[in-house]
Amino acid sequence: MYIFGPVPSRRLGLSLGVDPLASKSCNLNCVYCELGRSFKLTSERKLFVETDFIITELKQFFEKGGITDYVTISGSGEPTLALNLGELITEIKKITDKPLAVITNGVLLTDPQVRLELMNADVVMPSMDAFTPATYIKVNRPHGSIKMEKVIEGLRAFASEYKGRIWLEIMVVSGMNDSDNDMFEAKKVLDTIPNIEKIQINTVVRSRAEEYADPVKDLRLRELAMILGPRAEVIGKFTGSTIHTIDGIEDAMLEALKRRPMTAKDFEDAMGLKKIEIEMALGKLVQGGFVEKNHFSGMDFFKYSK
Ligand code: SF4
Repeated sequence: MYIFGPVPSRRLGLSLGVDPLASKSCNLNCVYCELGRSFKLTSERKLFVETDFIITELKQFFEKGGITDYVTISGSGEPTLALNLGELITEIKKITDKPLAVITNGVLLTDPQVRLELMNADVVMPSMDAFTPATYIKVNRPHGSIKMEKVIEGLRAFASEYKGRIWLEIMVVSGMNDSDNDMFEAKKVLDTIPNIEKIQINTVVRSRAEEYADPVKDLRLRELAMILGPRAEVIGKFTGSTIHTIDGIEDAMLEALKRRPMTAKDFEDAMGLKKIEIEMALGKLVQGGFVEKNHFSGMDFFKYSK
């Protein structure tokens, strides 16, 4: 399956995920990645999944009465690596008037073709976690061909061309990019890109690629947001509507867990089902060996077990 969810998103409410990659492909290897390490970094764009396959699944979702706040192209890695990204956005727009978001690490915004393909999205959500080359290498561990300065140039070019909304995310990791100085460096750059509507400060809340990638406390996140100014906000808890699942509960949960770890409470908040129903479904998935339970930051996370 190439669509998943809808899943509760702290930034979008209910988000129906579209995965144009099918398995992890990325040009970065972020220490906090909830998909685990990127074993083979790639910066080459290619066709991973035919557009028709994805569109067929999406049509079925809407025909069966599926409800979502956003359709979000994200999934198993960096979606701009998909050569059919532009075509996919055009085709999705033909079948739904739900706003379409694209989550990206921003690296390929250096490519004019990628910028062009993103023009029809309603929201583009690039991440930029570091504003000095040394921190970029430490936190994001990029493919050797990628230079932080070029990524910022790409972001600047995109912001000057794009007419939709840009919500930039800074993922903050304890001891790595959470100093006042880190945020002053970010502010220096971001103040020169006024078309970014929001700067969203986030931290590690799920399992991550490296054990040492620890979350930053809420109060500190607020202090960092204050340094960045009025466009900055700290990403809070999910506050969306409820998911209306289209198929079996367990299938819907499994597809969501293939893309990111979730807690039982995440499902409860999102699916409009009773706690006991969620727990039973998760129990079956764990027993069947499809899903494993991990404890992180005081919470139990369920993770797809490959
Ligand atoms: S967090 Fe995103 S950009 Fe970073 S390695 Fe994971 S998929 Fe790639």
